[in-house]
Amino acid sequence: MSQPALQRVAVVTGGIGGLGTEICRQLAQAGRKVVAVDLAARDERIAAFRQELASFDGAITFEAADVSDFDSCQQLTTRIEQQHGSVDILVNAAGITRDASLRKMSPQQWHELMRVNLDGVFNMCRNVVEGMTARGFGRIVNISSVNGQTGQFGQTNYSAAKAGVHGFSMALARETARKGVTVNTVSPGYCDTPMVAAVSAEIRQQIIADIPVGRLGTPADIARAVSFLGADDAGYITGANLPVNGGYFMSF
Ligand code: NAD
Repeated sequence: MSQPALQRVAVVTGGIGGLGTEICRQLAQAGRKVVAVDLAARDERIAAFRQELASFDGAITFEAADVSDFDSCQQLTTRIEQQHGSVDILVNAAGITRDASLRKMSPQQWHELMRVNLDGVFNMCRNVVEGMTARGFGRIVNISSVNGQTGQFGQTNYSAAKAGVHGFSMALARETARKGVTVNTVSPGYCDTPMVAAVSAEIRQQIIADIPVGRLGTPADIARAVSFLGADDAGYITGANLPVNGGYFMSF
């Protein structure tokens, strides 16, 4: 992979999460200046994140913002531009679940999830895309999910938002393609992270039995795909979805 001529600034939302932390690490290893963005309220995790990635010596920093809040994202973008430079790479990995079968799902569970998982993608992209197109370079990678591709019991909200993320990405890819900005999604399958650890041991075993590769995905598996799509020389891949699911759901 060719080294970028200048140090690009990469922003990773959900940056202190199970997948986000490893995405930050791999982007920093690829020579990016990384800003991890997450909720301010997660004090303990923020401290642990700083310790885990201390060896990167300032190449990874933390900024607090709520992606569900447009103004918070606008202020975040201004702060990052002042402190680190223009945003060249945006990875939208912030996400939540609010599982319930539709008969039992409250409007609050629906709206809370949409505000983070779908509005969050709009709020961040809307604030950085103009700068990217003006400078003629940008890489946007939105984290979707295999459950957005297949639908999942108890996840009408999550599946709708994640399918929506890919529709959004394809539309934005068309709007920015001539300006050097690519927009893609990565759709992880089931990964060994706190989100999946919350599932009962019995269901976990069932899930693993259905994965052709025979194991859960690792954060490194997902970060590899993000780093690939975020590379300077990945400019001819846009509007694509890259599934990283161990063969759990195969399609073309
Ligand atoms: P995680 O819960 O470990 O990380 C998500 C992060 O998003 C957390 O750090 C959380 O604090 C942050 N976040 C939540 N709401 C936020 C907000 N309003 N503003 C800013 N940050 C906010 O989950 P993860 O496993 O790392 O998942 C990362 C992404 O990958 C999510 O979008 C998730 O839907 C998707 N995904 C995960 C899996 C999996 O198996 N773990 C599978 C498919 C897709």
